[in-house]
Amino acid sequence: MPRAFITGITGQDGRHLAEFLHGKGYDVYGMVKGQNNPRAQSVIDEMPFVELVPGDLADLPSLVAALELSQPDEVYNLGAISFVALSFNQAELTANLTGLGVLRMLEAIRMIGGTHDNPIRFYQASSSEMFGKVRETPQTESTPFHPRSPYGCAKVFGHDIVVNYRESYGLFACSGILFNHEGPRRGIEFVTRKVTNAVARIKLGLQHELVLGNLDAKRDWGYAGDYVKAMWLMLQQDEPDDYVIATGETHSIEELVERAFAEVEIDNWRDYVRQDPKFFRPAEVDLLIGDPSKAREQLGWKPEVSFPDLVSMMVQNDLQLEAAKAGI
Ligand code: GDP
Repeated sequence: MPRAFITGITGQDGRHLAEFLHGKGYDVYGMVKGQNNPRAQSVIDEMPFVELVPGDLADLPSLVAALELSQPDEVYNLGAISFVALSFNQAELTANLTGLGVLRMLEAIRMIGGTHDNPIRFYQASSSEMFGKVRETPQTESTPFHPRSPYGCAKVFGHDIVVNYRESYGLFACSGILFNHEGPRRGIEFVTRKVTNAVARIKLGLQHELVLGNLDAKRDWGYAGDYVKAMWLMLQQDEPDDYVIATGETHSIEELVERAFAEVEIDNWRDYVRQDPKFFRPAEVDLLIGDPSKAREQLGWKPEVSFPDLVSMMVQNDLQLEAAKAGI
């Protein structure tokens, strides 16, 4: 059985990827940090087939030990401080985990597997936030980066070091430049889930307003379940490469809000929405729209879930969850 090692197993993508790889017959190992990590417990409860391995992206020896223990064929580095707003407040931590963590993982792979023709295949979760103040639209694999947050800067370092280790040591290392991808498992701090959860609670009479920041920003939102397939496909190719994974469509936060309220048949959504400067960012990424042509042509990948279906899936899930919590 092939073996996969995933960092960030407790996050949205880690869970989707673990399920996907398990379905393909992989033995799945997930790295978890800390003692009595409550998020690790939820992985054990939800996905008992995942073997948890201790380790921390800030600690190279722990990564070497984790790889020695799990002996993976494929490593997926999804672990990071992943929330852009938080990265402004914890910039150094973000640089350490989201940026230097990639370097440590690559070094651990070299130490375990040798320096050339390394049998371990490596996937790095790069991000559309690297494009930031976009230099061209739509964004492709060759669009120059101009990150707008400590998170984006750290991801650029991670991306560049993957390219460098591939070129320097012949590692089979790929980066997926994934545009925003969402779903019922998205953390509540991200705008999609914040909106769908609030809309569900407003519909159920549990909440009366939704407080947001910038409504004009535009994102290319896809479904996380579709995007993890692209990660795996990248590692099945003959040659390692980098790919943009996106839908090729963009929508504003306002459109997202309007559609989420429409899902519960509320038309006067403006009556429920208030803006607060505390949710605005020191520097904003105004517009993201990816061109996934290379992934379509070379990987045979395309997104399956449309934007309206994604919003509907998330609102319906939150309606169920919130109703159950409130005993309605
Ligand atoms: P990001 O693209 O990784 O930063 O994903 P987010 O879901 O956190 O934010 C997407 C966009 O929504 C950004 O342009 C934010 O400025 C905007 N936004 C507006 N209001 C909010 C809010 O209340 N929370 C979050 N997270 N984002 C918001």
